[in-house]
Amino acid sequence: MINIPKGTKDVLPSNSYKWQYIEDCARQVARAFNIREVRTPVFEHTELFARGVGDTTDIVNKEMYTFLDKGNRSITLKPEGTAGVARMFIENGLASSPLPMKSFYITPCYRYERPQAGRLREFHQFGVEVYGSPSPAADAEVIFAASSFLKKLGIKDTRLEINSIGCKTCRADYNAALREYFRPHLSEMCSTCCERFDKNPLRMLDCKEEGCKKIAAGAPKILDYLCPDCSAHFESVKKLLAAQGIEYVVNPGIVRGLDYYTRSVFEFVSTSIGAQGTVCAGGRYDGLIAELGGPSTPAVGFAAGLERLILLMENTGVPFPQAPVPDIYIAGMDEVSRAKAFALAGELRASGIAAECDLMERSVKAQLKYADKLGAVYVAVIGESELSEGAANIKKMSDGSATRVPFGDICNYIKQGGNLNG
Ligand code: ATP
Ligand code: MG
Repeated sequence: MINIPKGTKDVLPSNSYKWQYIEDCARQVARAFNIREVRTPVFEHTELFARGVGDTTDIVNKEMYTFLDKGNRSITLKPEGTAGVARMFIENGLASSPLPMKSFYITPCYRYERPQAGRLREFHQFGVEVYGSPSPAADAEVIFAASSFLKKLGIKDTRLEINSIGCKTCRADYNAALREYFRPHLSEMCSTCCERFDKNPLRMLDCKEEGCKKIAAGAPKILDYLCPDCSAHFESVKKLLAAQGIEYVVNPGIVRGLDYYTRSVFEFVSTSIGAQGTVCAGGRYDGLIAELGGPSTPAVGFAAGLERLILLMENTGVPFPQAPVPDIYIAGMDEVSRAKAFALAGELRASGIAAECDLMERSVKAQLKYADKLGAVYVAVIGESELSEGAANIKKMSDGSATRVPFGDICNYIKQGGNLNG
């Protein structure tokens, strides 16, 4: 017996409708915002993530699925969606297409993490990327899209936390202040924090070790170091959110797990799914495109973890739609009727009706039992008399009522919800 790799999950036939529902909601929200889908490869050159995500991040340091391909190239399975879209943008010269470019993706991501509830090695993200606008309106629109997505799913139990982590200018002063604060504590901090102290002290605020977290809690706050431009930008984002009626709290502790962020960062956090409470996270990354060798292009986006959303919905009783069922099951008494059932099912399917018939050579009784298990809305049994009459009793399973319907009218009958003359 070969088992599924650790940290991965199968989507079973009985459960896939939940995934389809969430993905449909994502697509509908994207459509309403005129955000178009993009698809990039599941694997990229490792260098893209090392540079794009940043080599002081947990992702690049510890979590990447990296291997040499048969041509001896270092390849990495995408740990997140943004770097690939940024590469696509640069490689296809999309900076000279009409801007902003508003795109979304639904993609699997791969991170070598310790699996827990809501933390997997293969997981899925719905992400939005808006390239080309430095305006706070773009930040607000991206946050609004994320919020609309959660709302469409019926998720109420999340808190929007926002922060600004400034630009290169304000970050220089802030990094100096952080180093001054952390220097006397270094001996009590983890080795990763000590490394980050030199390379990128901002990242020390994102450490998950309890001891480090306690020390980080007393660190100077970035909001006190924002330059006038970044400060004005943040104020505008907040005003625009308020104008859209979006509630938020400012959390100066959010720095995000990726190195490319500038200015706005935000997270939608739930308290109902434990430690893995961040269901959606994003921010502005004005430096990313240039960092990857493209023309300097401001950018803002978010990514939502679909497994965490499903977990949250299940844990808090947010309803999913009904699992899909066949509209009709057509049973056959004997070989000839079975053939007719098959032909009828074929006609109905061509008209968009979900029709089922027997593939197991079961008795009529066993076919009806199976139809019941499937939850078929209507059931018909074809036998000699039905064949000679060219009509069948269509039984409505919800109330047991039956109507004699000519074969040629079954399609309309079902489409009209069990009504011959409707
Ligand atoms: P965390 O702090 O929980 O590790 P992160 O900062 O690494 O999250 P991002 O890189 O911002 O997460 O990814 C965006 C979203 O993707 C997260 O908010 C979360 O919903 C989801 N996500 C991230 N890593 C995983 C994972 N290993 N398994 C499932 N979902 C994940
Ligand atoms: Mg992480």
